[in-house]
Amino acid sequence: MPALVQRDVLTAAPPGSDDCLRAAQHLMEVGFIRWNAASDALHVSPEARAMLGHGLDDEMTVAHLLSLVGAADASRVHGLWSDALAQGHTTVDAEFAALLRDGSVRRLRGVALLEYTPDGSLAQGTIGLQDMSAQHTVLQALSDSEARLEEIQEIAHFGCWEWDYTRQQARFAAETLRMLRRPMDWAPGMQELMELVPEDQRNWVVDLYVKAFAEKVENLRYEVRHVEDDGTRDLHTVARISYDAQGHPKRLLATVQDITELKTYRRQLHSLSFFDPLTELPNRALFVDRLNQALIDASWHHQQVGTLLLDLDRFKDINDSLGHSAGDDLLKQAAQRLRQVLRDYDTIARLGGDEFAVVLPDVRHATDMGSIASKVISAFKMPFTVSGQEVFVTTSIGGALYPSDAQDANQLLQHADAALYHAKGKGRNNFQFYSSDLTAQASARLTMESELHKALERDELELHYQPKFDLASGRLVGAEALMRWNHPERGLVPPVQFIPLAEDTGLIVPMGAWALRAACVAAADWNRRSSDPLKIAVNLSARQFAGGELVNTVREALSAAHCQPQWLELEITESLLLDGRDEIRGVLEELSQLGITIAIDDFGTGYSALSYLTRFPVQILKIDRAFIKELPSHQGNAEQLVKAIVSLGQSLNMALVAEGVETKEQADYLSGLGCEVVQGFLFGKPVTQLAFEQWVHAS
Ligand code: C2E
Ligand code: CA
Ligand code: CA
Repeated sequence: MPALVQRDVLTAAPPGSDDCLRAAQHLMEVGFIRWNAASDALHVSPEARAMLGHGLDDEMTVAHLLSLVGAADASRVHGLWSDALAQGHTTVDAEFAALLRDGSVRRLRGVALLEYTPDGSLAQGTIGLQDMSAQHTVLQALSDSEARLEEIQEIAHFGCWEWDYTRQQARFAAETLRMLRRPMDWAPGMQELMELVPEDQRNWVVDLYVKAFAEKVENLRYEVRHVEDDGTRDLHTVARISYDAQGHPKRLLATVQDITELKTYRRQLHSLSFFDPLTELPNRALFVDRLNQALIDASWHHQQVGTLLLDLDRFKDINDSLGHSAGDDLLKQAAQRLRQVLRDYDTIARLGGDEFAVVLPDVRHATDMGSIASKVISAFKMPFTVSGQEVFVTTSIGGALYPSDAQDANQLLQHADAALYHAKGKGRNNFQFYSSDLTAQASARLTMESELHKALERDELELHYQPKFDLASGRLVGAEALMRWNHPERGLVPPVQFIPLAEDTGLIVPMGAWALRAACVAAADWNRRSSDPLKIAVNLSARQFAGGELVNTVREALSAAHCQPQWLELEITESLLLDGRDEIRGVLEELSQLGITIAIDDFGTGYSALSYLTRFPVQILKIDRAFIKELPSHQGNAEQLVKAIVSLGQSLNMALVAEGVETKEQADYLSGLGCEVVQGFLFGKPVTQLAFEQWVHAS
C-alpha cells in the first residue's frame, strides 16, 4: 500500500479525533467518502483517493465515483444502491472491480452507511472503502485450485471429506458426494454419516474408529462394499485423525477412492493365477501354497498334515471317446462330489488333467486318512451323467502324511504320487498309503518310461498268440495277439506292467500301430495257403481313435502284409462306444465296411446302458474273464450275468466269445448256454509266434 499519510501524522501530531481516524484508516488500509445531500459536499479521504487513483488535489464528483465501477459490476452495484434507497436500507455492502484513471483495475469493497431525512430521502452517505485486490487474488487462486482439485478427483474417482468434531460438521468435495450418491448440499450429522457405511459392515467400521480413538491412532484405512441396484461398488477410505491436547479427536480428514474396477481386475488376476477356470478349484500354485502354509502351522502345533492325490480311472477313455466337452463336464461333476465329501477347511485342488489333490490340514490319526479316502471312493460309486449318458468313473487315491512320510511339500507330493501309482497298479478304485518301498517303485517307473520309448526302435516288442476254439466242433478258429516286451534285462514283461504306462504317455499309439502291422503279417503268413483261415484279433486302445489316423493305419497294415480284412478282428473296449459321437461310429463303420470284424472286449464290466450296442457295427461280444472265473456257481450273480450277456448277444445277432476259460466245468457250462467260441488256459496259453505256428501245423 502506498504511504498515504506522512510519517509525522502518525508520530508528531497530537492525537486528535481526526488524526486518530486517519491513523486508523492508514493502518487498516481503508479509506472513506462522505456525501451530504443538503450541501452536495463530497469529502474523499486521502486514503480513498489513493485507492481510486486520484491525487490529493484532484477535483472529484459523485458522477466520477460512479463511473469508476467497472462495466462487469456496474449494473449489480447500481441495482444494490437503488434498491437500498428505495427500501430505506441503512447499509449497502458491495465488492466490485474499479477501473482507475491509469487503466489499472483494483478490487474494492465499499460499505455505505445511509442516513435519511424524516421524509425518507437520502440525507447523508458515508462509504468505507477497502482494497480487496490482494485477498481477491489469493481467493481467486484458491478457488481455481479447488476447482482443479475437484476435477482431478472427479477424473480419478477420488473424493475427500472432513469432519469437524468441535462444530460437529462435515464438508465434502463434490466428487465425494457423487460417489456416495448424496445431494450436493448434504449436511449430515454424525449419525447420518455413519449410516453411509452399509449396515452389514457398520459394526466393524465403528469398532475400528472406537479403537483408533482409544489408542490415538492417526491413520486409518478400510474398505467398504456398497451393494446397490446398479451393482456393487468398493470404496476405499484413508482417514487421518487429529487430536486436541486432551486427546479428543478434533478433526477427521478422509479420502475416498472408488476401487471397484481395481478390485475386479485384482480378483480376475488372482483367480486366473490361482484357480482352475473349469472346476473353479484352486490350481497347483495355490495348492502348493496352502500345503506349505499347512506344513508351517503343523510344525508349530505338532500336528499332522495329510495329502491325497486322486486320479479318475479311465478318464482318458471317456475323454477320447465321448469328446472333450463331456470330459470337461465330468471333471466339473467330480470336483463337485469332492467338495461334498470333504470338509470346508480341506483344500481341494485340480492339478491338471484328471488329477486332483487334497490337503488335510489337521489329521489326528493316520487311519483318518484312510476313512476320508474311502468316503471319496464311495462318492464315486453313483454313475455320472455326461452327454446324456450314465458313466461309471472310479477314482484311485494315493496318500502321504507329514511328518512321518515326508518333511516338505515337495516330498509329500512325490510320495503321495508314488502311492497313487501303486493304487492304480492294484486295479484302480482304491486307496494306498505311501510306504518307503514305493519310492523305489516310482523311480523304477520313470526308468521304465524312458526304456519304453526305446523299446519300439530297438524292436523289443513281440506278439504272442492265444488260440480261440469253437466249442461245438473243437476247431481252431483264430487267435488273440497279445503284446509282450522283451526287455534286455528284465526278460519278457507282461502287458499289465507296461500297457498302462504306454497309455499314460501316448506311446500306445505307435505301439498299437506296430501290433497291427505285425499281426497282419502273421495272419497273411498263416492264411495264405489255408482253406480254413484263422481270424487274428488285435487289441485297440481308445487313444488310438483320437487323432483320426486309425483307418489309414489299419489299411496300410493290411495292404503292406497282403492280409485280407476278413482275417483281422479288432477288440475295442465298451467305454469307446459310450459315445454317441459320429466320429467313433464313423471310424468303426469304415473299418467294418473294409470287412474287418469288431469285437467288444471285457464285456459286462463297463457301462450299464446297452442300448448303444445296436447303433454300432459290432459283431462279437467277449465276455469278461472275471465272470467266467466264477462259473459255474450258484452264489453271486456271475451266472445270471453271463446268461444275460449270452441272451443279449443272441438277440442282437452277435457272436459270443468267452475268455479266461480255465476248467472243463466252465467250458461245459458255456456250451450249455450256447456260447460258441472260447479262449483260455484250458485250451492254450498265449505263446510266441513260432510256437503258435508249430502248434497249428502239428494239429
Ligand atoms: P485282454 O485283452 O483281456 O487279454 C486277455 C488276457 O487274459 C491276456 O493277458 C491273457 O493272457 C489272459 N488270459 C487268457 N486266458 C486266460 C485264462 O484262462 N486265465 C487267466 N487268468 N488269464 C487268461 P495278457 O496277455 O497279460 O494281457 C493283458 C491285457 O493287456 C489284455 O487284456 C489287453 O487289455 C492288454 N493288451 C495286450 N496286448 C495288447 C495290445 O497289443 N494292445 C493293447 N491296446 N492292449 C493290449
Ligand atoms: Ca483282448
Ligand atoms: Ca479281454
